[in-house]
Amino acid sequence: MSSQKKVRVRFAPSPTGGLHLGGVRTALFNYLFAKQHQGDFILRIEDTDQTRFVPGAEEYIHECLAWCGISPDESPVTPGAYGPYRQSERKPSYRQYAEQLINDGYAYYAFDTAEELEEQRKLFANFRYSHENRLNLRNSLSLPEEETQRLLSEGHPHTIRIKMPEEETVSFDDMIRGRVTFETGLVDDKVLLKADGMPTYHLAVVVDDHAMKISHIFRGEEWLPSAPVHLLLWEYLGWAAEMPEWAHLPLILKPDGNGKLSKRDGDRLGFPVYAMNWADPKSGELTKGFRELGFLPEAFVNMLALLGWNDGTDQEIFTMEELVEKFSVERISKSGAKFDYEKAKWFNHEWIKNTTNDQLLPEIDKLLKDNGVLTADPALIDAVLSAVKERLTFLSDFWQQASFFFVHPERYDVEAIKPKWNTDKTAFFEDIVHIFEEQSEWKAAVLEPLFKDKIAQSGMKMGELMLPYRIMLVGGKFGPDVFLVTELLGQEEVISRMKKALPLFL
Ligand code: GLU
Repeated sequence: MSSQKKVRVRFAPSPTGGLHLGGVRTALFNYLFAKQHQGDFILRIEDTDQTRFVPGAEEYIHECLAWCGISPDESPVTPGAYGPYRQSERKPSYRQYAEQLINDGYAYYAFDTAEELEEQRKLFANFRYSHENRLNLRNSLSLPEEETQRLLSEGHPHTIRIKMPEEETVSFDDMIRGRVTFETGLVDDKVLLKADGMPTYHLAVVVDDHAMKISHIFRGEEWLPSAPVHLLLWEYLGWAAEMPEWAHLPLILKPDGNGKLSKRDGDRLGFPVYAMNWADPKSGELTKGFRELGFLPEAFVNMLALLGWNDGTDQEIFTMEELVEKFSVERISKSGAKFDYEKAKWFNHEWIKNTTNDQLLPEIDKLLKDNGVLTADPALIDAVLSAVKERLTFLSDFWQQASFFFVHPERYDVEAIKPKWNTDKTAFFEDIVHIFEEQSEWKAAVLEPLFKDKIAQSGMKMGELMLPYRIMLVGGKFGPDVFLVTELLGQEEVISRMKKALPLFL
């Protein structure tokens, strides 16, 4: 790592739709690296492809980073000294570099129309614009100089393409993969500046990373094939000495390890791939996100950090602070990381367990209100949350696990018990009701021994009586310790539920 340079990294998404979890992981790794080195994390919006502009997509990116706690030091909405932070707003700066490359012999004007290129693709199945055929196509390398000048002065639409060397080897040291080498002759002459004057990704990414003094780049492995073009551009523009260090992050794979995880896999296998809900403005299609499905941001971030990285120990639960401290490029794996939704849910479960009630209560309050519980004692909500927390995979499970504390059970699961019911059992519970009515101290620690002594005296088995008791209070065979439920529901409510449910067993 170039030691003196101030660390400046960037996350450079194209605002084309919902943010894939792989994109958020890229942002996270950039962020962790920056914060570990007291550096800056920059958000740059790569929106030069106007045909792919999607309203709302940039706002979504800001909201998503904010939700994850990955806050940029510089961004379009919090600009620093290296703006603008949207590539489209940087448009005027790119042409000069493309022209400089032409003057230096590293690029050329291409006048081929879309139809002409289509024709070539029809003729040659694997058509690529490259050193092999560029002299047969319509560009400033194949046309006489006067013809090029005429076309330019008459304003004929044209692109500017990089002139990839026919036979050169370029290499760089990837922070994760080590030495990576490419044969330039195998790479096509990428378009650098489009006919509308907008740069393509290849030119813009190099010009902007240079202008914004980016020191390190963490980006997805899918960008590795573009690296030779970028390497040459850094060199051709005279900036080789300032080139950032690169790390190409391993792909996030489908659960079976067969290829890159896509949104479609999520739809097919029933799990989210986007960080947050995304409503496609054109089709209206809604894609569910981790946030709306009930993931805590801490759990989402923790899960992402471990997709392709670990700290070398068995530790799996990390706070953002710990991640900043422990993150290390050396421990990022080279091979793809399989996405495991069950594991993602485990992270959420662990994080719910480890998060204080105070932090979870606003969401729980909202959930109760959404389910029509408008007034509930805050002390009861707090105690119920403590009682069921261990059982929640998602916060939304709270309602299913704990609604009986706030509303009467809708149904009682008595069918399996009815056939084994007898008058002794009815008498037993009638006695319990009397004992409870006279009870002055309503505490689990008092009620439990009382109840159990009574069972012992009856000569009946524990299970035969405990299960019906639970069903009387809860409605079903679930929930926390039944005496804790007894205490929390309160004397009056317990007695009333017992009286109401008892006849159902007969
Ligand atoms: N705009 C690219 C993307 O959408 C950024 C690639 C890079 O980081 O160089 O992922």
